[in-house]
Amino acid sequence: MKTKSFSKQSSAFMSSHTTCAPAHSHTRRFSSTFDKTAPSLPTHNRRIKKIHWNVLTACNMSCSFCYLWRYPKQFALSTNHGRQLIKEISRQADWITFGGGDPLMRPDLPELVALAKNLGLKVDLQTNGLLLKGHLFETIAPNLDRIGLSLDGDEATCHDMVRSYPGNFDQVQAALHLCDQAKIPIVVRTMVCKLNLSRLSGISTILARYKSVLKWSLRQFVPLGRGADHASEYSISKSVFVKESTRLQNECSSNFFTFNVSIVSKDEMQQCYCLITPDGRIYAHPSQGDYQCTGKFPEMSLSDLLVKLPYDRKKRDLRDSFTSLSKTSRANYARTASE
Ligand code: SF4
Repeated sequence: MKTKSFSKQSSAFMSSHTTCAPAHSHTRRFSSTFDKTAPSLPTHNRRIKKIHWNVLTACNMSCSFCYLWRYPKQFALSTNHGRQLIKEISRQADWITFGGGDPLMRPDLPELVALAKNLGLKVDLQTNGLLLKGHLFETIAPNLDRIGLSLDGDEATCHDMVRSYPGNFDQVQAALHLCDQAKIPIVVRTMVCKLNLSRLSGISTILARYKSVLKWSLRQFVPLGRGADHASEYSISKSVFVKESTRLQNECSSNFFTFNVSIVSKDEMQQCYCLITPDGRIYAHPSQGDYQCTGKFPEMSLSDLLVKLPYDRKKRDLRDSFTSLSKTSRANYARTASE
């Protein structure tokens, strides 16, 4: 079977403001083969837990590790195709995640979010927080079941340096406060890298102030596309990442912090992740190898594309049930696992 590797430009579509998000977490090349060997899933496993749709490539930030903002041409499905896609997603999945670029830059986002909610989907939004305020926040907040924010340092100097955006630390604090007040469950992602390795405990202390923070997701920095130009400034080894993340998990547990700490590795993404890029390509992470494209919407219907998706609902549910265990249960689980 012939496989065409994705160019750096094409892989830009995989990006969003949380380079630490699943779509960004892996620096491998993405094959655009229409994978005819992907096994059809048994009927009881066909429904997807969550579909992540990066709704546009545009972003109002310019993090040095991300090359999305340098990309000369912007992509986004039209509003009509967006509506059609959401209707199809509502027949296939429990959750939709709106990512980007920054999804709040799409003028039709409030309408799309409301449509998703009205169709019975649980709605997750991942944003850099710049536009999360005022009328836009008030319009969108009632339809959100979860919000994803990125916090990469425990004070402005560190976070703003990682994000190459002076003032973003304060904007993320304001967004955390706003969502906490509105009681919107929050997932905070931290890109663990050379620049913030010594500041991670401080981030956990900040998160402990917010009752609505459900989960702290630790992601290892992986250079992607032209972000690789800055790899030496950010990269850490996998062993350092795992050691520090595990230490943080234990520390948060001993401090009785109520949020869960998740460490998302490559293995956990396999057969558990479905991504739609701004130009409508559907990607999945099969049990072996790199992400694969199963086809493109709207050229094909989402249901036809998802039948081919290597996705294991049971594995995904198991992964989620582990991260939502209480800290005592997790400690017991870890103890049992190490015996
Ligand atoms: S916030 Fe930064 S990492 Fe995220 S899409 Fe924008 S430039 Fe890229």
